[in-house]
Amino acid sequence: MNLLFVASEMAPFAKTGGLADVIGALPAYLAEAGHDVRVVMPLYDTVDTSKLTLEAVGDFAVPLGPHRYSARVFRKTGNAPTVYFVHCPELYGRGRLYTSDGDEHRRFLALSYVALFICQRFEIAPDIIHVHDWQAALIPMLLKTLFAKEPLFRRTRTLLTIHNLMYQGSFPVENGPDTNLDKYSDFFHQDLMKQGRVNILLQGVLYADGVSTVSPTYAKEIQTPALGGGLDGLLRARSSTVVGILNGVDYKEWSPETDRFIPHKYSASDLSGKEHDKQHLLNQLGLPYQKGVPVIGIVSRLVGQKGFALLAKTMPELLRRLGFQLVVLGSGEPALEDMFGSLQRAFPRQVCFYQGFKNDLAHLIEAGADMFLMPSVYEPCGLNQLYSLRYGTVPIVHRTGGLADTVQTWSPSTGTGTGFAFEHHDEAGLRWAIQAALATYKKTADWDQLVQNGMAADFSWQTQGKLYELVYKRLAQS
Ligand code: ADP
Repeated sequence: MNLLFVASEMAPFAKTGGLADVIGALPAYLAEAGHDVRVVMPLYDTVDTSKLTLEAVGDFAVPLGPHRYSARVFRKTGNAPTVYFVHCPELYGRGRLYTSDGDEHRRFLALSYVALFICQRFEIAPDIIHVHDWQAALIPMLLKTLFAKEPLFRRTRTLLTIHNLMYQGSFPVENGPDTNLDKYSDFFHQDLMKQGRVNILLQGVLYADGVSTVSPTYAKEIQTPALGGGLDGLLRARSSTVVGILNGVDYKEWSPETDRFIPHKYSASDLSGKEHDKQHLLNQLGLPYQKGVPVIGIVSRLVGQKGFALLAKTMPELLRRLGFQLVVLGSGEPALEDMFGSLQRAFPRQVCFYQGFKNDLAHLIEAGADMFLMPSVYEPCGLNQLYSLRYGTVPIVHRTGGLADTVQTWSPSTGTGTGFAFEHHDEAGLRWAIQAALATYKKTADWDQLVQNGMAADFSWQTQGKLYELVYKRLAQS
Protein backbone atom coordinates (compact mmCIF):
# COMPACT_ATOMS: atom_id res chain seq x y z
CA MET A 1 0.00 0.00 0.00
CA ASN A 2 0.91 3.59 -0.43
CA LEU A 3 0.90 5.14 3.05
CA LEU A 4 1.41 8.76 4.05
CA PHE A 5 1.94 9.70 7.69
CA VAL A 6 1.49 13.27 8.87
CA ALA A 7 2.64 14.01 12.41
CA SER A 8 4.20 16.69 14.56
CA GLU A 9 6.85 14.45 16.14
CA MET A 10 9.09 11.64 15.04
CA ALA A 11 11.91 10.03 16.98
CA PRO A 12 14.80 10.60 16.88
CA PHE A 13 14.29 14.01 15.21
CA ALA A 14 11.74 15.66 17.47
CA LYS A 15 10.20 14.17 20.56
CA THR A 16 8.18 15.21 23.57
CA GLY A 17 6.51 11.88 24.22
CA GLY A 18 5.07 8.61 23.00
CA LEU A 19 3.82 10.01 19.67
CA ALA A 20 7.42 10.42 18.52
CA ASP A 21 8.23 6.83 19.40
CA VAL A 22 5.28 5.59 17.35
CA ILE A 23 6.19 7.65 14.28
CA GLY A 24 9.81 6.62 14.70
CA ALA A 25 8.88 2.93 14.65
CA LEU A 26 5.58 2.16 12.90
CA PRO A 27 6.45 3.61 9.45
CA ALA A 28 9.80 1.78 9.60
CA TYR A 29 8.01 -1.48 10.34
CA LEU A 30 5.51 -0.89 7.52
CA ALA A 31 8.29 -0.04 5.06
CA GLU A 32 10.03 -3.26 5.99
CA ALA A 33 6.76 -5.11 5.46
CA GLY A 34 6.84 -3.91 1.86
CA HIS A 35 4.66 -0.81 1.85
CA ASP A 36 5.56 2.52 0.31
CA VAL A 37 5.70 4.75 3.39
CA ARG A 38 6.29 8.47 3.65
CA VAL A 39 6.24 10.75 6.67
CA VAL A 40 5.71 14.51 6.66
CA MET A 41 6.81 16.48 9.73
CA PRO A 42 8.00 20.01 10.56
CA LEU A 43 11.66 20.87 10.47
CA TYR A 44 11.77 22.48 13.89
CA ASP A 45 14.88 24.49 14.67
CA THR A 46 15.49 21.94 17.44
CA VAL A 47 16.00 19.08 14.95
CA ASP A 48 19.65 18.10 14.89
CA THR A 49 20.36 18.08 11.16
CA SER A 50 24.11 17.60 11.50
CA LYS A 51 23.84 13.83 11.01
CA LEU A 52 21.14 13.96 8.32
CA THR A 53 21.48 14.21 4.58
CA LEU A 54 18.69 16.46 3.42
CA GLU A 55 17.82 17.20 -0.15
CA ALA A 56 15.64 20.18 -1.04
CA VAL A 57 12.81 18.89 -3.20
CA GLY A 58 10.50 21.84 -3.58
CA ASP A 59 9.24 25.22 -2.47
CA PHE A 60 5.63 25.73 -1.58
CA ALA A 61 3.49 28.80 -1.03
CA VAL A 62 1.08 28.23 1.83
CA PRO A 63 -1.78 30.69 2.14
CA LEU A 64 -3.75 30.42 5.37
CA GLY A 65 -6.58 32.92 5.29
CA PRO A 66 -4.96 36.36 5.08
CA HIS A 67 -1.54 34.91 6.04
CA ARG A 68 1.13 33.84 3.58
CA TYR A 69 3.96 31.45 4.29
CA SER A 70 6.61 29.91 2.15
CA ALA A 71 7.97 26.50 2.98
CA ARG A 72 10.87 24.57 1.56
CA VAL A 73 10.54 20.82 1.73
CA PHE A 74 13.57 18.64 2.33
CA ARG A 75 13.66 14.91 1.83
CA LYS A 76 15.84 12.83 4.06
CA THR A 77 17.93 10.45 2.05
CA GLY A 78 18.85 7.06 3.42
CA ASN A 79 16.79 4.32 5.01
CA ALA A 80 13.06 3.95 4.44
CA PRO A 81 10.64 5.43 5.27
CA THR A 82 10.98 8.58 3.21
CA VAL A 83 10.75 11.59 5.53
CA TYR A 84 9.76 15.01 4.24
CA PHE A 85 10.75 17.85 6.53
CA VAL A 86 8.80 21.07 6.15
CA HIS A 87 11.15 23.99 6.62
CA CYS A 88 9.48 27.25 7.51
CA PRO A 89 11.49 29.13 10.16
CA GLU A 90 8.70 31.62 10.68
CA LEU A 91 6.54 28.76 12.00
CA TYR A 92 8.97 26.16 13.30
CA GLY A 93 11.81 28.30 14.62
CA ARG A 94 10.51 28.65 18.16
CA GLY A 95 13.09 26.66 20.10
CA ARG A 96 10.49 24.07 21.02
CA LEU A 97 7.88 21.88 19.37
CA TYR A 98 4.72 23.37 20.85
CA THR A 99 3.84 26.87 21.94
CA SER A 100 0.87 28.76 23.22
CA ASP A 101 1.48 31.49 20.66
CA GLY A 102 -1.48 33.01 18.85
CA ASP A 103 -0.55 31.27 15.60
CA GLU A 104 -0.22 27.76 17.01
CA HIS A 105 -3.09 26.53 14.83
CA ARG A 106 -1.42 27.96 11.71
CA ARG A 107 1.84 26.19 12.52
CA PHE A 108 0.10 22.86 12.02
CA LEU A 109 -2.48 23.86 9.42
CA ALA A 110 0.55 24.67 7.30
CA LEU A 111 1.92 21.18 7.94
CA SER A 112 -1.38 19.64 6.84
CA TYR A 113 -1.56 21.68 3.64
CA VAL A 114 2.06 21.06 2.70
CA ALA A 115 1.55 17.30 3.14
CA LEU A 116 -1.24 17.42 0.53
CA PHE A 117 0.75 19.78 -1.74
CA ILE A 118 3.65 17.29 -1.65
CA CYS A 119 1.30 14.59 -2.92
CA GLN A 120 0.16 16.83 -5.75
CA ARG A 121 3.64 18.00 -6.73
CA PHE A 122 5.11 14.49 -6.79
CA GLU A 123 1.96 12.69 -7.92
CA ILE A 124 1.64 10.56 -4.87
CA ALA A 125 -1.74 8.85 -4.53
CA PRO A 126 -1.86 7.48 -1.01
CA ASP A 127 -4.18 4.60 -0.22
CA ILE A 128 -4.16 5.79 3.36
CA ILE A 129 -3.25 9.12 4.89
CA HIS A 130 -2.59 8.34 8.52
CA VAL A 131 -2.91 11.55 10.52
CA HIS A 132 -1.85 11.90 14.14
CA ASP A 133 -3.41 14.06 16.83
CA TRP A 134 -4.97 17.47 16.30
CA GLN A 135 -1.91 18.79 14.50
CA ALA A 136 -2.84 16.79 11.40
CA ALA A 137 -6.53 16.25 12.06
CA LEU A 138 -7.87 18.77 9.55
CA ILE A 139 -6.61 16.67 6.63
CA PRO A 140 -9.66 14.36 6.48
CA MET A 141 -11.90 17.40 6.16
CA LEU A 142 -9.61 19.01 3.57
CA LEU A 143 -9.91 15.86 1.45
CA LYS A 144 -13.70 16.05 1.65
CA THR A 145 -13.81 19.75 0.73
CA LEU A 146 -11.05 21.71 -1.01
CA PHE A 147 -9.33 18.59 -2.35
CA ALA A 148 -12.49 16.61 -3.13
CA LYS A 149 -11.91 16.85 -6.86
CA GLU A 150 -8.22 15.93 -6.79
CA PRO A 151 -7.94 12.67 -8.77
CA LEU A 152 -4.89 11.58 -6.78
CA PHE A 153 -7.04 11.34 -3.66
CA ARG A 154 -9.99 9.62 -5.28
CA ARG A 155 -9.29 6.37 -3.48
CA THR A 156 -7.53 7.80 -0.44
CA ARG A 157 -8.91 6.91 2.98
CA THR A 158 -7.92 8.61 6.21
CA LEU A 159 -7.13 7.19 9.61
CA LEU A 160 -6.94 9.58 12.57
CA THR A 161 -4.97 8.26 15.52
CA ILE A 162 -5.56 9.99 18.82
CA HIS A 163 -2.52 9.70 21.04
CA ASN A 164 -3.93 11.90 23.78
CA LEU A 165 -7.46 13.24 23.63
CA MET A 166 -6.76 16.08 26.02
CA TYR A 167 -4.84 18.01 23.37
CA GLN A 168 -7.48 19.01 20.85
CA GLY A 169 -6.38 22.14 19.01
CA SER A 170 -9.32 24.28 20.04
CA PHE A 171 -9.20 27.85 18.74
CA PRO A 172 -11.34 30.98 18.77
CA VAL A 173 -13.71 31.00 15.83
CA GLU A 174 -12.12 34.26 14.65
CA ASN A 175 -9.21 32.11 13.49
CA GLY A 176 -11.56 29.99 11.36
CA PRO A 177 -10.66 31.75 8.08
CA ASP A 178 -7.05 30.57 8.53
CA THR A 179 -8.27 27.09 7.55
CA ASN A 180 -9.22 28.41 4.06
CA LEU A 181 -12.54 26.65 4.56
CA ASP A 182 -14.86 29.65 4.79
CA LYS A 183 -16.86 28.28 1.90
CA TYR A 184 -17.44 25.08 3.82
CA SER A 185 -18.51 26.54 7.13
CA ASP A 186 -21.35 23.97 7.25
CA PHE A 187 -18.72 21.31 7.69
CA PHE A 188 -17.71 22.74 11.05
CA HIS A 189 -19.44 21.68 14.24
CA GLN A 190 -22.21 24.25 14.44
CA ASP A 191 -22.91 24.30 18.18
CA LEU A 192 -19.27 24.77 18.92
CA MET A 193 -19.04 27.63 16.42
CA LYS A 194 -21.90 29.32 18.23
CA GLN A 195 -19.84 28.99 21.40
CA GLY A 196 -17.04 30.76 19.55
CA ARG A 197 -14.68 27.82 19.06
CA VAL A 198 -13.25 25.69 16.29
CA ASN A 199 -11.84 22.35 17.42
CA ILE A 200 -9.51 20.67 14.96
CA LEU A 201 -9.41 17.24 16.60
CA LEU A 202 -13.20 17.21 16.68
CA GLN A 203 -13.30 17.95 12.97
CA GLY A 204 -10.97 15.01 12.51
CA VAL A 205 -13.26 12.73 14.47
CA LEU A 206 -16.14 13.86 12.27
CA TYR A 207 -14.45 13.37 8.90
CA ALA A 208 -11.75 10.72 9.23
CA ASP A 209 -12.75 7.43 7.63
CA GLY A 210 -11.41 5.62 10.65
CA VAL A 211 -10.44 6.69 14.16
CA SER A 212 -7.99 4.83 16.31
CA THR A 213 -6.35 5.31 19.62
CA VAL A 214 -3.43 3.68 21.29
CA SER A 215 -4.97 1.01 23.50
CA PRO A 216 -8.22 -0.96 23.62
CA THR A 217 -9.10 0.31 27.11
CA TYR A 218 -8.44 3.95 26.18
CA ALA A 219 -10.62 3.44 23.08
CA LYS A 220 -13.47 2.62 25.45
CA GLU A 221 -12.60 5.29 28.03
CA ILE A 222 -12.67 8.16 25.51
CA GLN A 223 -16.28 7.26 24.78
CA THR A 224 -17.22 8.09 28.38
CA PRO A 225 -17.86 11.56 29.81
CA ALA A 226 -15.08 11.10 32.38
CA LEU A 227 -12.26 10.78 29.84
CA GLY A 228 -13.93 11.87 26.62
CA GLY A 229 -12.73 15.46 26.85
CA GLY A 230 -16.09 16.68 25.55
CA LEU A 231 -15.82 14.53 22.41
CA ASP A 232 -17.25 11.37 23.95
CA GLY A 233 -20.67 11.86 22.35
CA LEU A 234 -19.19 12.15 18.86
CA LEU A 235 -16.89 9.22 19.50
CA ARG A 236 -19.82 7.12 20.69
CA ALA A 237 -21.68 8.05 17.54
CA ARG A 238 -18.74 6.71 15.51
CA SER A 239 -18.16 3.80 17.86
CA SER A 240 -18.05 1.19 15.11
CA THR A 241 -15.04 2.90 13.51
CA VAL A 242 -13.10 3.53 16.74
CA VAL A 243 -10.42 0.95 17.43
CA GLY A 244 -7.65 0.69 20.01
CA ILE A 245 -4.22 -0.63 19.01
CA LEU A 246 -1.47 -0.70 21.59
CA ASN A 247 1.78 0.98 20.70
CA GLY A 248 4.61 -1.37 19.97
CA VAL A 249 8.05 -1.14 21.45
CA ASP A 250 11.11 -0.62 19.34
CA TYR A 251 13.07 -3.47 20.88
CA LYS A 252 16.11 -2.47 18.85
CA GLU A 253 16.26 0.60 21.09
CA TRP A 254 14.84 -0.92 24.24
CA SER A 255 16.32 -4.32 25.11
CA PRO A 256 18.69 -5.03 27.97
CA GLU A 257 20.63 -7.48 25.77
CA THR A 258 21.78 -4.74 23.40
CA ASP A 259 21.06 -1.36 25.02
CA ARG A 260 24.00 0.92 24.24
CA PHE A 261 23.17 3.21 27.15
CA ILE A 262 23.60 0.61 29.88
CA PRO A 263 27.03 -0.57 30.98
CA HIS A 264 26.00 -4.14 31.83
CA LYS A 265 23.85 -6.03 29.33
CA TYR A 266 21.61 -8.79 30.61
CA SER A 267 18.77 -11.09 29.57
CA ALA A 268 15.96 -13.15 31.05
CA SER A 269 18.25 -16.15 31.36
CA ASP A 270 21.01 -14.20 33.08
CA LEU A 271 19.99 -11.19 35.12
CA SER A 272 23.31 -10.62 36.83
CA GLY A 273 24.03 -7.48 34.78
CA LYS A 274 20.86 -5.86 36.12
CA GLU A 275 22.24 -5.66 39.67
CA HIS A 276 25.43 -4.06 38.31
CA ASP A 277 23.37 -1.55 36.36
CA LYS A 278 21.54 -0.74 39.57
CA GLN A 279 24.84 -0.02 41.31
CA HIS A 280 25.95 2.08 38.35
CA LEU A 281 22.68 4.03 38.36
CA LEU A 282 22.84 4.81 42.07
CA ASN A 283 26.49 5.68 41.78
CA GLN A 284 25.80 8.12 38.95
CA LEU A 285 23.06 9.77 40.93
CA GLY A 286 25.07 9.94 44.15
CA LEU A 287 22.88 7.54 46.13
CA PRO A 288 24.35 4.75 48.27
CA TYR A 289 23.92 1.19 47.03
CA GLN A 290 22.87 -1.44 49.50
CA LYS A 291 22.11 -4.96 48.44
CA GLY A 292 18.48 -5.86 49.03
CA VAL A 293 17.19 -2.27 49.11
CA PRO A 294 14.73 -1.92 46.23
CA VAL A 295 14.85 1.03 43.85
CA ILE A 296 11.68 2.47 42.37
CA GLY A 297 12.14 4.42 39.12
CA ILE A 298 10.10 7.16 37.48
CA VAL A 299 10.67 8.59 34.00
CA SER A 300 7.95 10.95 32.94
CA ARG A 301 6.74 14.29 31.84
CA LEU A 302 5.71 15.92 35.11
CA VAL A 303 2.16 16.93 34.29
CA GLY A 304 -1.16 16.44 36.06
CA GLN A 305 -2.12 13.52 33.81
CA LYS A 306 0.71 11.43 35.18
CA GLY A 307 -0.89 11.36 38.64
CA PHE A 308 2.13 12.24 40.76
CA ALA A 309 0.08 14.53 42.98
CA LEU A 310 -0.80 11.33 44.88
CA LEU A 311 2.81 11.05 45.98
CA ALA A 312 2.93 14.31 47.93
CA LYS A 313 1.36 12.85 51.04
CA THR A 314 2.10 9.16 50.67
CA MET A 315 5.77 9.12 49.67
CA PRO A 316 7.37 10.61 52.79
CA GLU A 317 5.59 8.12 54.99
CA LEU A 318 6.33 5.15 52.71
CA LEU A 319 9.99 6.11 52.28
CA ARG A 320 10.41 6.43 56.04
CA ARG A 321 8.63 3.20 56.87
CA LEU A 322 9.76 0.93 54.03
CA GLY A 323 13.26 2.23 53.35
CA PHE A 324 13.32 1.86 49.54
CA GLN A 325 15.02 4.28 47.17
CA LEU A 326 13.37 6.46 44.52
CA VAL A 327 14.97 7.81 41.35
CA VAL A 328 13.04 10.29 39.29
CA LEU A 329 13.78 11.71 35.83
CA GLY A 330 11.47 14.32 34.39
CA SER A 331 10.49 17.91 34.09
CA GLY A 332 7.28 19.82 33.73
CA GLU A 333 4.93 21.62 36.05
CA PRO A 334 6.77 23.62 38.74
CA ALA A 335 4.56 22.28 41.56
CA LEU A 336 5.51 18.69 40.72
CA GLU A 337 9.16 19.56 40.24
CA ASP A 338 9.07 21.23 43.65
CA MET A 339 7.48 18.16 45.21
CA PHE A 340 10.23 15.86 43.94
CA GLY A 341 12.82 18.46 44.90
CA SER A 342 11.58 18.52 48.48
CA LEU A 343 11.47 14.73 48.65
CA GLN A 344 15.11 14.69 47.61
CA ARG A 345 16.03 17.25 50.26
CA ALA A 346 14.11 15.39 52.97
CA PHE A 347 15.53 11.97 52.00
CA PRO A 348 18.98 12.67 50.55
CA ARG A 349 20.15 9.06 50.81
CA GLN A 350 16.95 7.60 49.40
CA VAL A 351 15.69 9.97 46.73
CA CYS A 352 17.30 11.49 43.65
CA PHE A 353 15.38 13.83 41.37
CA TYR A 354 17.07 14.54 38.06
CA GLN A 355 15.23 17.44 36.49
CA GLY A 356 15.32 17.27 32.71
CA PHE A 357 14.87 15.13 29.62
CA LYS A 358 17.76 12.73 29.23
CA ASN A 359 17.42 9.66 27.05
CA ASP A 360 20.50 7.78 28.29
CA LEU A 361 19.40 8.19 31.90
CA ALA A 362 15.90 6.99 30.95
CA HIS A 363 17.47 3.77 29.67
CA LEU A 364 19.67 3.40 32.73
CA ILE A 365 16.70 3.84 35.06
CA GLU A 366 14.71 1.20 33.16
CA ALA A 367 17.64 -1.18 33.59
CA GLY A 368 18.79 -0.28 37.09
CA ALA A 369 15.51 0.12 38.95
CA ASP A 370 13.68 -2.85 40.47
CA MET A 371 10.24 -1.31 40.04
CA PHE A 372 8.78 1.41 37.88
CA LEU A 373 5.98 3.69 39.04
CA MET A 374 3.25 5.10 36.75
CA PRO A 375 0.27 6.33 38.78
CA SER A 376 -1.30 8.10 35.76
CA VAL A 377 -4.78 9.53 36.14
CA TYR A 378 -5.32 8.42 32.57
CA GLU A 379 -2.85 6.90 30.14
CA PRO A 380 -3.67 6.42 26.45
CA CYS A 381 -1.01 3.73 26.06
CA GLY A 382 2.13 4.49 28.02
CA LEU A 383 5.48 3.23 26.84
CA ASN A 384 7.60 3.19 29.91
CA GLN A 385 5.70 0.32 31.51
CA LEU A 386 6.34 -1.69 28.32
CA TYR A 387 10.05 -0.89 28.47
CA SER A 388 10.01 -1.81 32.17
CA LEU A 389 8.53 -5.22 31.43
CA ARG A 390 11.30 -5.97 28.96
CA TYR A 391 13.97 -4.81 31.44
CA GLY A 392 12.64 -6.99 34.25
CA THR A 393 11.61 -3.86 36.13
CA VAL A 394 8.24 -4.49 37.71
CA PRO A 395 5.62 -1.85 36.86
CA ILE A 396 3.40 -0.37 39.56
CA VAL A 397 0.53 1.37 37.78
CA HIS A 398 -2.94 2.81 38.04
CA ARG A 399 -5.30 0.49 36.18
CA THR A 400 -6.30 2.83 33.36
CA GLY A 401 -5.96 2.97 29.56
CA GLY A 402 -2.95 1.18 28.14
CA LEU A 403 -1.65 0.47 31.63
CA ALA A 404 -4.73 -1.68 32.27
CA ASP A 405 -4.15 -3.54 29.00
CA THR A 406 -0.49 -4.30 29.59
CA VAL A 407 0.05 -4.82 33.33
CA GLN A 408 -1.76 -7.56 35.26
CA THR A 409 -1.47 -7.75 39.01
CA TRP A 410 0.74 -10.51 40.35
CA SER A 411 -1.12 -13.44 41.85
CA PRO A 412 1.04 -15.55 44.18
CA SER A 413 -1.44 -18.42 44.07
CA THR A 414 -1.26 -18.89 40.30
CA GLY A 415 2.19 -17.39 39.65
CA THR A 416 0.69 -15.16 36.98
CA GLY A 417 0.82 -11.41 36.49
CA THR A 418 3.45 -8.89 35.47
CA GLY A 419 3.15 -6.08 38.00
CA PHE A 420 0.84 -4.28 40.39
CA ALA A 421 -2.16 -2.29 39.23
CA PHE A 422 -4.32 -0.30 41.62
CA GLU A 423 -7.97 0.21 40.81
CA HIS A 424 -8.89 3.58 42.28
CA HIS A 425 -6.75 6.63 41.75
CA ASP A 426 -6.32 7.56 45.40
CA GLU A 427 -3.71 7.43 48.11
CA ALA A 428 -4.98 4.13 49.51
CA GLY A 429 -4.65 2.54 46.07
CA LEU A 430 -1.12 3.80 45.57
CA ARG A 431 -0.07 2.77 49.07
CA TRP A 432 -1.50 -0.74 48.56
CA ALA A 433 0.32 -1.24 45.28
CA ILE A 434 3.71 -0.04 46.54
CA GLN A 435 3.44 -2.13 49.68
CA ALA A 436 2.38 -5.22 47.71
CA ALA A 437 5.32 -4.77 45.34
CA LEU A 438 7.81 -4.33 48.18
CA ALA A 439 6.45 -7.34 50.06
CA THR A 440 6.76 -9.50 46.94
CA TYR A 441 10.29 -8.21 46.36
CA LYS A 442 11.30 -9.89 49.62
CA LYS A 443 10.05 -13.28 48.42
CA THR A 444 12.81 -14.13 46.01
CA ALA A 445 11.14 -17.03 44.21
CA ASP A 446 7.94 -15.08 43.65
CA TRP A 447 9.86 -12.02 42.49
CA ASP A 448 11.90 -14.05 40.03
CA GLN A 449 8.74 -15.50 38.54
CA LEU A 450 7.11 -12.06 38.33
CA VAL A 451 10.16 -10.64 36.55
CA GLN A 452 10.24 -13.56 34.12
CA ASN A 453 6.55 -13.15 33.31
CA GLY A 454 7.14 -9.52 32.40
CA MET A 455 10.25 -10.16 30.33
CA ALA A 456 8.39 -12.79 28.29
CA ALA A 457 5.67 -10.35 27.22
CA ASP A 458 5.86 -9.24 23.57
CA PHE A 459 4.74 -5.78 22.48
CA SER A 460 6.84 -5.57 19.35
CA TRP A 461 5.87 -3.57 16.27
CA GLN A 462 5.88 -6.86 14.38
CA THR A 463 2.74 -7.73 16.36
CA GLN A 464 1.13 -4.30 16.66
CA GLY A 465 2.03 -3.19 13.13
CA LYS A 466 0.03 -6.08 11.69
CA LEU A 467 -3.07 -4.73 13.43
CA TYR A 468 -2.58 -1.37 11.68
CA GLU A 469 -2.20 -3.17 8.37
CA LEU A 470 -5.56 -4.83 8.96
CA VAL A 471 -7.20 -1.49 9.69
CA TYR A 472 -5.65 0.06 6.55
CA LYS A 473 -6.91 -2.83 4.44
CA ARG A 474 -10.40 -2.55 5.85
CA LEU A 475 -10.43 1.20 5.24
CA ALA A 476 -9.09 0.84 1.70
CA GLN A 477 -11.92 -1.53 0.89
CA SER A 478 -14.59 0.71 2.41
P1 ADP B 1 3.73 10.48 27.07
O1 ADP B 1 3.69 10.31 25.59
O2 ADP B 1 2.43 10.82 27.69
O3 ADP B 1 4.81 11.40 27.54
P2 ADP B 1 4.63 7.70 27.09
O4 ADP B 1 4.89 6.77 28.22
O5 ADP B 1 3.72 7.23 26.00
O6 ADP B 1 4.11 9.07 27.72
O7 ADP B 1 6.00 8.06 26.38
C1 ADP B 1 7.01 8.70 27.07
C2 ADP B 1 8.28 8.61 26.24
O8 ADP B 1 9.09 9.74 26.55
C3 ADP B 1 9.10 7.39 26.58
O9 ADP B 1 9.87 7.00 25.48
C4 ADP B 1 9.99 7.91 27.71
O10 ADP B 1 11.15 7.18 27.92
C5 ADP B 1 10.27 9.32 27.23
N1 ADP B 1 10.52 10.26 28.33
C6 ADP B 1 9.61 10.83 29.12
N2 ADP B 1 10.20 11.66 29.99
C7 ADP B 1 11.52 11.61 29.73
C8 ADP B 1 12.68 12.25 30.28
N3 ADP B 1 12.58 13.12 31.28
N4 ADP B 1 13.88 11.96 29.76
C9 ADP B 1 13.99 11.08 28.74
N5 ADP B 1 12.95 10.44 28.18
C10 ADP B 1 11.73 10.70 28.66
